[in-house]
Amino acid sequence: MNPRSKPDWTAADSAALYGVDNWGGGNFSMTPSGEVTVKVQFDSGPVEVPLIEIVRGIKQRGHDMPLLLRIENLLDARITLLNESFREAIRQAGYQGRYQGVFPVKVNQQAQVIEEITQFGARYNHGLEAGSKAELLLALAKLPEHGLLVCNGYKDREFIDLGLWADKLGYRCFFVVESPSELPLIIARSQALGIRPLLGLRIKVSAKVGGLWTETSGDRSSFGLSTAQLVQVVDDLRAAEMLDCLQLLHCHLGSQIPDLEEIRAGVREASRFYADLVAEGVPLRSLDLGGGLAVDYIGNQTKHSHSRNYSLADYCRCIVTTIQQTLAASGAAHPDIITESGRATVAHTSLLLFNILDVMHFEAQALPDRCPSDAHPLVARQFALQQDAASFELVAGYQEALGIRDQIRQLFRDGEIPLRQRSLAENLFLASARQVLQRLEQLSECPAELSELPQNLADIYYGNFSVFQSLPDSWAIDQVFPVMPIHRLAERPERDAIISDLTCDCDGKLDCFILTGGERRTLPLHPLVPGEDYFLGVFLMGAYQETLGDLHNLFGDTHVVSVRVNENGSFDVMKELSGDSVAEVLSFVEYDPQALYNGFRDKAEKAVRDGRIDLSERQRLLEEFASRLRGYTYYCS
Ligand SMILES: *Cc1c(COP(=O)(O)O)cnc(C)c1O
Repeated sequence: MNPRSKPDWTAADSAALYGVDNWGGGNFSMTPSGEVTVKVQFDSGPVEVPLIEIVRGIKQRGHDMPLLLRIENLLDARITLLNESFREAIRQAGYQGRYQGVFPVKVNQQAQVIEEITQFGARYNHGLEAGSKAELLLALAKLPEHGLLVCNGYKDREFIDLGLWADKLGYRCFFVVESPSELPLIIARSQALGIRPLLGLRIKVSAKVGGLWTETSGDRSSFGLSTAQLVQVVDDLRAAEMLDCLQLLHCHLGSQIPDLEEIRAGVREASRFYADLVAEGVPLRSLDLGGGLAVDYIGNQTKHSHSRNYSLADYCRCIVTTIQQTLAASGAAHPDIITESGRATVAHTSLLLFNILDVMHFEAQALPDRCPSDAHPLVARQFALQQDAASFELVAGYQEALGIRDQIRQLFRDGEIPLRQRSLAENLFLASARQVLQRLEQLSECPAELSELPQNLADIYYGNFSVFQSLPDSWAIDQVFPVMPIHRLAERPERDAIISDLTCDCDGKLDCFILTGGERRTLPLHPLVPGEDYFLGVFLMGAYQETLGDLHNLFGDTHVVSVRVNENGSFDVMKELSGDSVAEVLSFVEYDPQALYNGFRDKAEKAVRDGRIDLSERQRLLEEFASRLRGYTYYCS
C-alpha cells in the first residue's frame, strides 16, 4: 500500500470527485491504488492499462513531457460504435436506406489520425469530407478505392478538376454546391474533361440550434443555398441536362448541438427539402446531415453547451425515424443517410499529459507573537483582527481586513509605511483570509461577498505546456476539457488550485474545471512531493485542437505518440512524432538557425579574444547553444 494513502480517502472517492465515469464514456477508469487507466473492450472482456505506465514507457523511449497521447483503440471503438449504432437504429425502424459515415478532415488532419480512420474505417466504408485543396489531396492519397469523398467549401478550377479525376479513379466524390457561382465552373470543367460529376446541394436549414455554433445554420449562415438559389440551381442543372448528377442533399446544423429536439427539427426540415426535390424529379439518393453530434465534456447529460441531452443511440434513432416519418407522406424512397461526425469520432482518442513544474501558494508565513511596538496603527489593527479571525463576524471582519490591506498599500506608495511593515501587514491579511476560508468550508452556503475568496487563495500550479499550442479552444471559446491528475488518486487531493501554463500571458491558464456536481473555479490537486513527478491529463481533446494551436512564446508542437493496447494488457507504441525543436520554431518566424549559431559563435570568439572566457569554455558554450537549438521547446524535467 502507498505509504501516503490515507484510510479516509480511496480511489473511488477520486473517481467520484473528478467525474471520470460521467465524461469518460467508459474509456477511462481507476485502479484501487489510484491510477487512471485507459479501458479498452475486447471480445474477451475489458483490459485496463494505467496511463502512468504508458507515460513511463514513453519516457524510456526518450520523449519528455508534455506529450499528446493518442490511443488508437479508442478511435477504432468510436468508428465502430457510430456505424453499429446507426445500423441498429435502421434495423429497429425497418428503414430502407443504409448509413455511411464520413470524417471531416478539418476536425483532425493529423496523418496518424487520418490513416487510422481510413484503414480501420474501411470495413464500414467510412469516408472523408474535405473542405480545401490540401484536405482533398490528402484524402485522395489515403482513402481506399471506391471510398466516399464529400467536398464542401469553396472550389476553384484546380479543386474541381482534382475531384473530377477522383471519380475516374473510382472514388465516389461529391461536390457539394454551396453557392450558385460554383455551378457554371463545375459544369464547364466536367464538360471539358468529359467526366460527369456527382453533385450535392447544401441547403440552409432555418431551424436554429443552440450551443456555441449557432451561426452555422439559419438565414445568415455564410454556407449553403437559400431556397431561391436552390430552385435556381436545380433549374440550371436541368437545363444543362445534368440533373441526373444531383444525387445528394447536404446540410450542417452546427457543431456540438446539445439538444436532441433541435437536431430533430433540423432533420425534419432537411427531409422536407428532400421529399419535395424528389417529387420534382431530382434523382436524390443520399441525405447528408453534416456534423453536430455532441461530446459530453462535462458529463452531466444536459442541454448545457458543453454537454448533450442524448446518447448516441438516441441520436441515431432520432435521425432515422425523423426521416422515415417525414418522408412517409410523400412516398419518396428512404435515402442513404450520411453524417459527418468529427468531434464525436475523435475527441476521446487524444489526451494531453504534462508535469507540474512548480507551485505558488498563497499562505501566510509564520507570524510574530506580539505586534511590534513601532507598528503603524493600521498594522496594529490588522494584527488585532488576525488574532480575532477565528471568531469575528465573517463578512464584516474580512471586509475590514481587506480595506486595511488596501489602505496600507496606499500608505506604502506614499512613503508613509516602510517595506517591513507592509510585508508584515500583508502576511497578517493572508492569515486572516485563510482563516475565513477555513470557516467558509464549514458553512453550507458561501455568502455572496466572499464568493471569490476560494479562487483568490487558490494555489497556482505551473504546468509544462502551452494553452495556446495545445488547448486553443480553452482560451479562444472557453471550451472546458476534463482535467485531473493521472496518479496518486488514492490520496486525498488537499490543495485547491488553478493551472497556469508556461507562456507569459495571463490568458495562459486553466481556471474552469469540471467536477461532479458542476463547474468549479478551482481544481483539487495533491501537494507536490519534492523529487517526484506529478502528472496531469487533459482529456477529450482529440477534436479541433491540434492545428488551431499557435506558437505563443515560441512553444512548439508537443511530442505525439500513438499507442495501442493489447488484449494481454500490454501496449505497443505504434507511432512517435517528435515535437518541434527550438530551431524549427525559430525558423517558422523567419530566423535562420545556422545564422543564429554563427552570431553566437562570433560573440564567444570575441569573449575569448578579450580574455573573458577560455577556449574550453567557448567550446562548452557553443555545444550548449547547438544542443538547445536541437532540443524541445518545453521545460526538461
Ligand atoms: C466542421 C464540420 C463538420 C464537423 O462537425 P462536428 O460537430 O465536429 O461533428 C461536419 N461537416 C461540416 C460541413 C463542417 O463544416
